[in-house]
Amino acid sequence: MDERLRQELANWLEFYRELGIEEFYRRAPGSGGLLPTTSGGRITHSALSGGAPPAPATKPALTETKPVVSPTAPLPLPRAGASQTVVVAPPVRPPAPSLSLFETPPPKPSGPETLEQIRADLGDCHRCKLAGGRHTIVFGEGNPQAELVFVGEGPGADEDEQGRPFVGRAGQLLNRMIQMIDMKREEVYICNVVKCRPPGNRTPEKDEIETCSPFLFRQLEAMKPRLICCLGAPAVRTVLGIKEGITKIHGQFYDFATSKALATVHPAYVLRNAREEKILREDFEKIREFLKGK
Ligand code: URA
Repeated sequence: MDERLRQELANWLEFYRELGIEEFYRRAPGSGGLLPTTSGGRITHSALSGGAPPAPATKPALTETKPVVSPTAPLPLPRAGASQTVVVAPPVRPPAPSLSLFETPPPKPSGPETLEQIRADLGDCHRCKLAGGRHTIVFGEGNPQAELVFVGEGPGADEDEQGRPFVGRAGQLLNRMIQMIDMKREEVYICNVVKCRPPGNRTPEKDEIETCSPFLFRQLEAMKPRLICCLGAPAVRTVLGIKEGITKIHGQFYDFATSKALATVHPAYVLRNAREEKILREDFEKIREFLKGK
C-alpha cells in the first residue's frame, strides 16, 4: 500500500475512533461501499476522492445500519482532509441559558419595583428548606400604598392554609389593635420575615431568614411606608438589626431607609402573656400619634 493511501487510511481510522467507532466489518462482496450512506441521525459518507478506504475487519457484513453517534455527544471537529459528511440528529441539550457570557442583561426597568413584580420573582419558591413543609407561600397582603406596614415572624398553620398573613388568633388580636387606632386592616400592609411556615411554628432559622428577607426588603423598598411596625424579636432583628430584648427597646422610633420603624411585642406573645397587652396598647398609641403628624 503506498504511503499516501496508508496515511489517508490512518486519518480515517482515527476520525472514526473519535466518533466511537472502533470496529469495521467487511461488506459482502458486490454490496457496494464499505459503510452505508444513511440519514436521519446516522453516519453517512461519500467515498474519499480516489475510492473508499478498505475495511480491515474480518467479521461478517452488517446488514443493518446503526446510529453511530449519540445525539447528545459533542460533534467532532471536522478533520483536515476528511471529505465525508457526518449527519447526526440534532443534539438534545438542556435549554440554553437565557444569556450567553457575551450578552449583557437587558436593562432593568427604571423606577421602583412593584409588589407584583416581586411576587412574580419569588415564584414557586424553593430557595430554602421551609418550602418542603409549607402548604402556601404567604407573600403579604394589604394596601401597596400603605403608610403603615406590619412585619411579623412567619406564617402559622392558619396562614399557611389560607395563604394570608395574620389570619389566626394572633391576627385577630392584630386586627383589634388596628381598629383601636381607627384604621382598617385594608389600609395597612401586613407581611412577615419568612413567607413559608416553619415546621411546628418554630422560630425561623438564620439561613431561612437570610434567604427570604431580601424579598421583604424589596417589598419595603417598593412601598416606602412612613412607618414599619416590627412585631416580635425576629422582625426586629431582621429589619433593624437590633438584638436587645423587645421589652427594652419597644415603642422607640428608628430609621429604616426613608421610613421610620418601631418595635413592639408580637400579638402571639401577648396571647400567652396577657399582662403584656399594655405594651401593645401603648405602642399602638404611639403609632397613631406618629401617623397623625405629617
Ligand atoms: N404570626 C406571624 O408572625 N405571622 C403571621 O402571619 C401569623 C402569625
